[in-house]
Amino acid sequence: MIGQRDEQPSGECLTLSGVGLHTGTVATVTLERAPASTGRVFYVDGQAIPAQVSCVQPSSLCTTLAQNNYKIHTVEHLLAALVGLGIADVAIHLEGEEIPLLDGSALAWVERLQGWGVGQPCPVGVITEPLVVQEGDSFAAVFPASELLLTYGIDFPDYPAIGRQWLTWQPQRQAFAEVIAPARTFGLAEQIDRLRQQGLIRGGSLANALVCDRERGWLNPPLRFPDEPVRHKLLDFLGDLGLLGALPRGHFLAYKAGHRLHTQLAARLHQWFSKHPKIG
Ligand SMILES: [Zn+2]
Repeated sequence: MIGQRDEQPSGECLTLSGVGLHTGTVATVTLERAPASTGRVFYVDGQAIPAQVSCVQPSSLCTTLAQNNYKIHTVEHLLAALVGLGIADVAIHLEGEEIPLLDGSALAWVERLQGWGVGQPCPVGVITEPLVVQEGDSFAAVFPASELLLTYGIDFPDYPAIGRQWLTWQPQRQAFAEVIAPARTFGLAEQIDRLRQQGLIRGGSLANALVCDRERGWLNPPLRFPDEPVRHKLLDFLGDLGLLGALPRGHFLAYKAGHRLHTQLAARLHQWFSKHPKIG
């Protein structure tokens, strides 16, 4: 993995360093177990930034958290690993401004967190009515259900190598580490120059993102799963929903969505739970 340096976990801490996707600069993250009910909290230069919807800062290609002018970019893959493994209380110390991209998936986090005796997402509460956020033909929603389920759909008609993909993940029956964590981020070859000109994806490369070309297909195969793109979108969705803390029982569904819709749904749910206490 290019630009990555890792150290062995010492006690209840583990450290990983690597390049950030958008900033292109090296950052170091140290995860430390935290007391029960303290939640997932980032620390930058002594400033605490809780992984909560109230700290979300608008951004399109990644999820950014901010508090008192301190910012952290691209929190979603690390948050997905924590949510997917059922780790609710953790202090995340960051030296830098963006969480390292590593190989573009959540696998490196998951491998190192195994020593913490990890489990699976543990739903808290239920929702009793559908909630939907929508933008054009894209949407993110949650529906009442007896268990926690996540479904994602994507459609890239101009990119036959991706095409239309749907996936439902059942966290209680399918291990996050095997089914979701290894799926890497992906990009479209035609958009990469434009994003670079905007000063984005400075740390992106064929080593940490799958790149798909309209005519030539995948430029850096092999894929880890035939439907790796939709699995990665589901990974992003899970990480963004992690801003709620624990997820309720319910069926989460997103179609052609992105971080903005994911975090809007999390905010809508947070608001809903402020009027309907998390019970059950
Ligand atoms: Zn992602």
